[in-house]
Amino acid sequence: MIDYQTILDEIQHELSTCEHRGKVASYIPELAKIDTANFGMHLQLLNGKSYHTGRSKTPFSIQSISKVLTFAMAIALQNHNLWERVGVEPSGNPFNHLSLLEQEKGIPRNPFINTGALVICDILISELEHPKEAFLDFVRKLTNDPSINYNTAVAKSEQRTGFKNFAAANLLKSFGNLKNDVSEVLDFYFHQCALEINCKQLCNAFYFFANNGVCINNSTHLKDQHVKRINALMLTCGFYDEAGEFAFEVGLPGKSGVGGGIVALLPDEFVISVWSPGLNEKGNSKLGMMALEMFTTKTELSIF
Ligand code: GLN
Repeated sequence: MIDYQTILDEIQHELSTCEHRGKVASYIPELAKIDTANFGMHLQLLNGKSYHTGRSKTPFSIQSISKVLTFAMAIALQNHNLWERVGVEPSGNPFNHLSLLEQEKGIPRNPFINTGALVICDILISELEHPKEAFLDFVRKLTNDPSINYNTAVAKSEQRTGFKNFAAANLLKSFGNLKNDVSEVLDFYFHQCALEINCKQLCNAFYFFANNGVCINNSTHLKDQHVKRINALMLTCGFYDEAGEFAFEVGLPGKSGVGGGIVALLPDEFVISVWSPGLNEKGNSKLGMMALEMFTTKTELSIF
């Protein structure tokens, strides 16, 4: 029997003495206010048991982790030519990189880099009458938690300073890979990134990727074949130009965000999340990566 609580507490304790905790994402001014001393973890097993340590109930900005959830919505809708508009290859580049998009004629490498996520936003805007409300509703259903909401101050903050995303959306538009207005696509994108969530809620939101498409309260389902694809994309593209490192160190499909959150899962076994706002130079949570490496090493649980 693995003593999960002791393992989580050990990880928290070992990392609490870390002096270099990374840097917060100051290019979004609202995120620059967050203290790097924060640290939380939550583990949800598929047998119903759960464990947590640190500030696992403090909400943080989901940022790019949201891209997996909007992608799950888009793939489930199906009545659009998604794979003609976005690829499935790792980019080997930072999340906000642009020159590859120009070379590859406006087709983003995958849905988890910013340009790919903008195309997914565009698809959802075309398909749904109220995409911002529909996305919120989807996450609330997945988590069974109606209290989850957007942090509009964070969305506005990125709206004011997210110049690279403005450039990305305009470049996509110039290649004809956005059907809707650039401003509408960006507004939805900044809101999905500004969703606030805590470690426990994040595990619940990603539970269906570990549970063959059935969410924690059975209310929302995703087809098995879609779950397989999304987990494969998380493994290969979930950490931008650090996806290889994450697979090497941790060995689980997962996704990070510049709010300092990371979620990862072992199909049929567990979902685990960690929040530590200081980022490494690749834009992934510095201590979060370390914590998950420690977890899969101590428990000897990974997909490999
Ligand atoms: N909103 C952020 C951006 O577009 C998300 C990036 C991230 O979390 N990696 O820059």
